[in-house]
Amino acid sequence: MLIDSHCHLDDYKDLPQVLANASAAGVTTLLAIGIGDGPDTMHRALEIAHQSPTSGTQVWATVGIHPQEAHQATPSALEKLARLSADPRCIAIGEIGLDYYHLDNPDIPAQQAAFIAQLEIAAAVRKPITIHCRTSELAIPAAKAKYEPADAWDDLLRLLVQHWQPHGLPGIMHCFSGNEQQAARSLELGFYLSFAGNVTYPKSATIQQVARTAPADRILVETDAPFLAPIPLRGQRNEPAHTAITAQFVANLRGTTPPALAAQTTENFHRLFPTTTP
Ligand SMILES: [Zn+2]
Repeated sequence: MLIDSHCHLDDYKDLPQVLANASAAGVTTLLAIGIGDGPDTMHRALEIAHQSPTSGTQVWATVGIHPQEAHQATPSALEKLARLSADPRCIAIGEIGLDYYHLDNPDIPAQQAAFIAQLEIAAAVRKPITIHCRTSELAIPAAKAKYEPADAWDDLLRLLVQHWQPHGLPGIMHCFSGNEQQAARSLELGFYLSFAGNVTYPKSATIQQVARTAPADRILVETDAPFLAPIPLRGQRNEPAHTAITAQFVANLRGTTPPALAAQTTENFHRLFPTTTP
């Protein structure tokens, strides 16, 4: 039994088949990310979660405004977010955070304001957050010119210390792609590190090193489906069933067995989200 701690289910035309594939691969619980195409559709993941079958694969949901949509974090969008976040099937707020990679994204002040507003909503409802953080390290020159010298990780960790740590609530670093120091600081702040298909890529030596050495009780696995398919499926449509491939890769890195890794990450997920315990 495995849990996919981060997937996007909104756009699958064959969702019943995708859920059946997950179940057949032993992926029995999914966290569907409720960012939609922006705030207007952020409720979609929650609708899917409410329709998920009582047997087979269980779907839980988040709601959030992605940093690339930060300019849409209007008072009415935040009000919708606050309302949806109270739903018992919504277990986290996200994915929220900072993205200094894409040139088209809202500017830094808009991203940070939307992030802080959502931290406050999550704190009020006492639910964990799931974080998206992308730096400009590998961005095109125009994007580097827009965002640098600011660093998304530095800004993110500073905002979490100011606006999240005082609430004593945990969270997830989704698709963890930082370095060892950023991992250590995330762990200090009470976060779990969730590893996605990119951990299997040849250039991911640093992510692999973090996945190898992170404390067993703070790791999760995810797909970020339909994006980021693990090797050997890289470049294809991803789906939650493929959590099993990433989990096997992480188990090998850590010198443990896939069943032990599955049991550990499942226990971690249920500790983080007690209401999901079967
Ligand atoms: Zn995502």
